[in-house]
Amino acid sequence: MFESFEFTAVSPYLVAILGLVVVWQYYQIQVMAGRVLAVDIFDRSGIRMYIYVVPEDDDCCEVCSAANGRVFLPSHVAKKEFSPLTGTCRRPVPCLGILVGLYGGWLEARGVVERLRESGKKGWIQLSVEELRVLVNGQWEMSISAETDRIGVHTLEAVCYEKINQVVSTTGYRFVINEAKEVRHLLLLVPAYLRLVLLLVRSGEKEEALNVIERFESRFPTRRRGPHFPTREQRNIMKTRKSLLLEGQPEHVSA
Ligand SMILES: [Zn+2]
Repeated sequence: MFESFEFTAVSPYLVAILGLVVVWQYYQIQVMAGRVLAVDIFDRSGIRMYIYVVPEDDDCCEVCSAANGRVFLPSHVAKKEFSPLTGTCRRPVPCLGILVGLYGGWLEARGVVERLRESGKKGWIQLSVEELRVLVNGQWEMSISAETDRIGVHTLEAVCYEKINQVVSTTGYRFVINEAKEVRHLLLLVPAYLRLVLLLVRSGEKEEALNVIERFESRFPTRRRGPHFPTREQRNIMKTRKSLLLEGQPEHVSA
């Protein structure tokens, strides 16, 4: 008697939870298969700020370079007309920029979140390159957000250190490539592949660059599409790099 009472009282919740699990798994499968739109994979839960970073490159346009280090409130990013840029990118193939969501529980990050909240209606602030490095060099691993922010911090670190310490950068990009499996991290994947290959080519590690390109090709098969999949231009960049590597030519393409 008691058992059956307990069962009927609990089961609606249990059914609801199981239902959610099924929906979530179905959603994950749909995203992985590239059937969900870009806006849907922007999971804003647990995110207190978005940082836009642009790898330093000579051929990056001035509009995109100026946006490096901008930090946005999640409510700002959620706006329909949101763009991290003030203006439009000047290149026919858009410059590469990466929007990284963080909770930011460590000291330096809390300071940034505070400044951001004080920005009021504007909804964004700008960090200098030095301030970005101070942020990623903080004790983030000791903070409550270590797990939530790990992939994001490695992405920021990789971008900030490209010109200063290539090992830090390649390690960071590799980490993203190996570990980004959750939906909210998928948009970091293509940039990580593109930058890692470029750094490997520049430092003459051709074999390894080819390996990474092959992993990129098998991870993003051409017959599939999705919001986190490479654009046609990005696929072309990789294709050109691959053929230059196979021909033993020096690298001329960047992204
Ligand atoms: Zn640009």
